[in-house]
Amino acid sequence: MPGENHIVVIGGSFGGIGVAQNVLASIPNVKITLINTSKDWYFNIAAARILSKPNSTPLDKIIFPIKDNFFSKYSATQFEFIHATATSLDTKAKTVTLSTSQSITYDYLVIATGSHTAAVVSGIPFKQPITDTLHDSIQSAQTRIANASTIVIGGSGAAAIEMAGELAEGYPNKKVTVISGSARLLPVLGEKASAVALKRLHKLGVKVLLGVRVLENNQSGKKGPIELDTGKVIEADLYIPAVGVIPNNSFIPPALLDAAGYLITSPEQTVSSPAVSGVYGIGDITNNPSKMASTITQQIAVTVANLKNDIEKTGTRKAFKPEKTTLVIPIGSKGGVAEMGDFGGIVLWSWLVSLIKGNFFISLAFTISGLKKQ
Ligand SMILES: Cc1cc2nc3c(=O)[nH]c(=O)nc-3n(C[C@H](O)[C@H](O)[C@H](O)COP(=O)(O)OP(=O)(O)OC[C@H]3O[C@@H](n4cnc5c(N)ncnc54)[C@H](O)[C@@H]3O)c2cc1C
Repeated sequence: MPGENHIVVIGGSFGGIGVAQNVLASIPNVKITLINTSKDWYFNIAAARILSKPNSTPLDKIIFPIKDNFFSKYSATQFEFIHATATSLDTKAKTVTLSTSQSITYDYLVIATGSHTAAVVSGIPFKQPITDTLHDSIQSAQTRIANASTIVIGGSGAAAIEMAGELAEGYPNKKVTVISGSARLLPVLGEKASAVALKRLHKLGVKVLLGVRVLENNQSGKKGPIELDTGKVIEADLYIPAVGVIPNNSFIPPALLDAAGYLITSPEQTVSSPAVSGVYGIGDITNNPSKMASTITQQIAVTVANLKNDIEKTGTRKAFKPEKTTLVIPIGSKGGVAEMGDFGGIVLWSWLVSLIKGNFFISLAFTISGLKKQ
């Protein structure tokens, strides 16, 4: 009978939806309750494209109602979606309290609340906003970008570079500057990849300042002068802080978090505290250093196998083994850079990057995420 074990999943994105779908497909006699701040899933991998080229893609190609798209075939005894935010967690009583004041009791809990970023706080939704304002936030960001003549992006990582490439290509008359705190772009990759990214941005007319930091107090996304640590001040209509990831942890007891605010999980994806049982963590909220959707697929398999083992007392416990990450970064639609982690850091040809991800995987959102449309 469905409903004998109640698994509550908090967070409805790559991790949370993936766990819920895979549990329902492989473990009988469970009820899943999925709680998410927004009723929609945001395919944020395409954020740079959708924000910089608003006419390129209708929003319904990157925003999908969670219940109707992913869980329509399940009955109310098997699956319930709750459109709310978790506000507190009591691991002794095994209850989660929601923004609706509802209190939900679980047998097992999966925390998949991910993170947001400084850009999201400044109104540029690289990820889901922490309040339920996804459509408005995307449309307002598109308008602010369209109305700005000079745009400065702070950061040296993939999000900064993808955004700069898309902006330069989508709006060739705007002045786009990247301010990179590190001495080279993409410092997590090798020097060759950094050089390719710099060359490609220059080709698109983007100005790049290396080894220069924007002072902290100006990272607000507002129009105005931007003070640099060199003492120089530059004017911009829009500043996009493509730095600073912020874990969505406000409801999690602090004892379960590491110093940076991430949920401490074991290789079995369980929460690493002897005082807590039946709680799993998955995706960007965890202290796993790889904050990539591509890593989450493996974490889902481990979590679901271990939940099955908990419930049915069959099979063996599985453990997550981090693999080298492959980063594929389009810089405009006709080129980019990619470093193959599994192949000794080979840097791919720019044209091949555009072939793989020149469209930001928009038509492949379900394939890439491993989520199954129903
Ligand atoms: C611009 C950009 C481009 C990227 N491109 C790639 C890429 O090309 N390839 C790749 O592999 N990865 C990419 N990533 C990383 C990828 O987006 C993340 O790894 C992925 O989103 C993490 O998924 P998640 O399920 O852990 O959480 P998230 O996607 O962060 O989602 C968490 C969900 O939980 C909800 N939530 C948060 N708090 C609560 C609460 N208290 N109660 C209820 N719900 C809550 C949120 O609203 C959200 O829906 C990119 C990231 C960015 C920012």
